[in-house]
Amino acid sequence: MNAYQKDQLDDYIIVTEHLASIASEDKQLLLIELDGYLQFRKQIDVFLVDHFTDECTEKCYHSKLSACCGKDSIIIFFADVVVNVLLSKKSDISMIMDRLRQPNSGIKCVYLNGSGCMWKVKPIVCALFLCDRAMDKVFSNEPSLRDVWEGFRRTDKTFRWPDQPVLFDRLEQHFIDAGYQSPSMYLHNSPGLLNVKRRAGLIK
Ligand code: SF4
Repeated sequence: MNAYQKDQLDDYIIVTEHLASIASEDKQLLLIELDGYLQFRKQIDVFLVDHFTDECTEKCYHSKLSACCGKDSIIIFFADVVVNVLLSKKSDISMIMDRLRQPNSGIKCVYLNGSGCMWKVKPIVCALFLCDRAMDKVFSNEPSLRDVWEGFRRTDKTFRWPDQPVLFDRLEQHFIDAGYQSPSMYLHNSPGLLNVKRRAGLIK
């Protein structure tokens, strides 16, 4: 297990431990808070299935040329883990944690197995990743789709760019209030994101 995997595993331990300790009503409140975000994620999924399945399946999965999932460490927000644990079965999270404890010998993402990504709700960085070649091909055939995609990118910011109160910040705060800390609580740790909050008058 490398340092990246250890950090990831620590996040999964924190989140599963805390969610197992709170009342089901409190867990329900967290799930309600995810409503708008999950609708947004569904819209992205539908868009990708409708417009990119053929392109990506042919060019990436069959040819193995893909840049997707080809890095051994991607940026994952603490809130990504919270969302995934809240929406996953316990057995799926156990499989992810077991995987993180194993060495990642390949050049691919540690979460990629023979069936694809192990996450039920992928990290947002992954959900919004399209390689230039796929975008050029699909958007040149149907230019209006580029506007839709850019719209998704703008909407993404409303969940995790802290120039206003955002979901990812609130999810981190929920765990901080419960006594937890993690390096991947970027909205509370990243100097750049703290500056964004400061400029927006959200912190001093
Ligand atoms: S988390 Fe999933 S979607 Fe993201 S790079 Fe890893 S395998 Fe791919």
